[in-house]
Amino acid sequence: MSVIEYADLYIGGEWSKPTGSDVLHVVSASTEQHIGIVPEGNDDDVDRAVRAARAAFDDPTGWPVWAPAQRAEVMERFAAELESRAEETARRVSDQNGMPIVVANQLEAVFPAVLLRYYARLAKDMPFEERRPGMLGGSSLVIREPIGVVAAIVPWNVPQAITFLKVAPALAAGCTIVLKPSPETVLDAFLMAEAALAAGLPAGVLNIVPGGRELGAYLVSHPGVDKVSFTGSTAAGRAIAETCGRLLRPVTLELGGKSAAIVLDDADLINNMESFFGATLLNNGQICWLGTRILAPQSRYGEILDTITGLAGALQIGEALDPSTQIGPLASARQRDRVESYIAKGNAEGARLTVGGGRPKQFEKGWFVQPTVFGDVDNNFTIAQEEIFGPVLSVIPYRDEDEAVAIANDSDYGLGGSVWTADPDRGTAFARRIQSGTIGINAYMNDPTVPFGGIKASGMGREMGPEGLAGYQQLKTIYLDAKASTS
Ligand code: NAD
Repeated sequence: MSVIEYADLYIGGEWSKPTGSDVLHVVSASTEQHIGIVPEGNDDDVDRAVRAARAAFDDPTGWPVWAPAQRAEVMERFAAELESRAEETARRVSDQNGMPIVVANQLEAVFPAVLLRYYARLAKDMPFEERRPGMLGGSSLVIREPIGVVAAIVPWNVPQAITFLKVAPALAAGCTIVLKPSPETVLDAFLMAEAALAAGLPAGVLNIVPGGRELGAYLVSHPGVDKVSFTGSTAAGRAIAETCGRLLRPVTLELGGKSAAIVLDDADLINNMESFFGATLLNNGQICWLGTRILAPQSRYGEILDTITGLAGALQIGEALDPSTQIGPLASARQRDRVESYIAKGNAEGARLTVGGGRPKQFEKGWFVQPTVFGDVDNNFTIAQEEIFGPVLSVIPYRDEDEAVAIANDSDYGLGGSVWTADPDRGTAFARRIQSGTIGINAYMNDPTVPFGGIKASGMGREMGPEGLAGYQQLKTIYLDAKASTS
């Protein structure tokens, strides 16, 4: 396969020479082969990108003051351009980060255009201002203004879908954007830039500067930025929140998770295997909301542990681009080392390994780890408290529903989760007791129309739904006196 090369950065609505000469090399997670090379942005490139975004935002006839329907039209063209590159987007993501191609074809190839279209429709349908009658005579105009220049920083695990959780509502609101993709997944971001150019996004509305954490930190604290939208680890999120606190800069944080998948005593897991896999092991365990702590009732503990062990043991492990692959490699050698160190901790702490625990023998290259299940896990074990971000499940026994709630809530995190039961009403009543921003009954699915986000160490703010749009708007009130109110 030929190496994908880019020499320029997408800044100010065109391909522009990078300021420095540093490059990022991209390596296939499955084969460890060199698959791409792109310029690495530096502080000067961030300065240029923020200047371009600032100029586009401050233009008195520019993107923020366009009628929402006009912005929506461009967003729809952007969606169509992404769709015409969907297959290549999925292929690039899959090759870079190990996401099985069947997953990439559903998530990365589809979700960005879905989000753009959803927010384009919302921009057309939702009023951006409202005349509100007052209690003291007169009335007021309440206006939802775009918040300004947005710094969007994204991780490598689901790079395109996560990018558009930010870009789509920000565009709809009338904001301009500087995006910093993760160095592990940049090739998809350059394809996205091609789509933006082809769609005719006005100059400076979207700018992309790839680089590592120092570049991200520089962007977060840049004086030309009005809002930060970050998805990534809780550690980085804390550092960013500190900076934003000092600068009084609004910030949305989508961070880590350690969610619980709670199996109630009436659950039929066998007939819900596909959904259960999706809620616990999708994308090789590299999704923030996965339910990696599985809570099983003592009355059925052995049987449930056997079922989950059987599921993990039967999964097809393979190269990410192979359509039969269910579990691909982890995104990087660093990530594999991290997952293996947690498996070692699980063994050392006395959890019972029932399947996996090592590297599959059949691959000479690639950062593969076998799907792994630990039984007899105590919720205080490190593997039950810390985010592993790999295909490792911990099965924890509980006595009754009250204890299940207590265990599920005994976590620093609060992002996702799921309840498995034959009775959806019982499941919903149980879900209400779980401290988490989102939770599913017999499935876990992010729908673009409803808010997604975490509580506790899983973050602040919400993406998706109208609530996601609100994150890129600020409210302005214009008081009108009685005379003006009647005009
Ligand atoms: P990471 O925090 O190391 O990096 C994420 C992004 O932030 C990268 O682009 C990185 O370059 C940048 N970055 C890192 N430190 C920074 C700093 N101090 N200032 C500015 N930018 C910085 O995370 P990762 O390893 O790339 O991704 C995995 C993590 O992301 C996991 O913890 C996972 O749970 C989390 N995640 C959360 C969600 C969510 O929606 N809640 C979604 C996906 C991933």
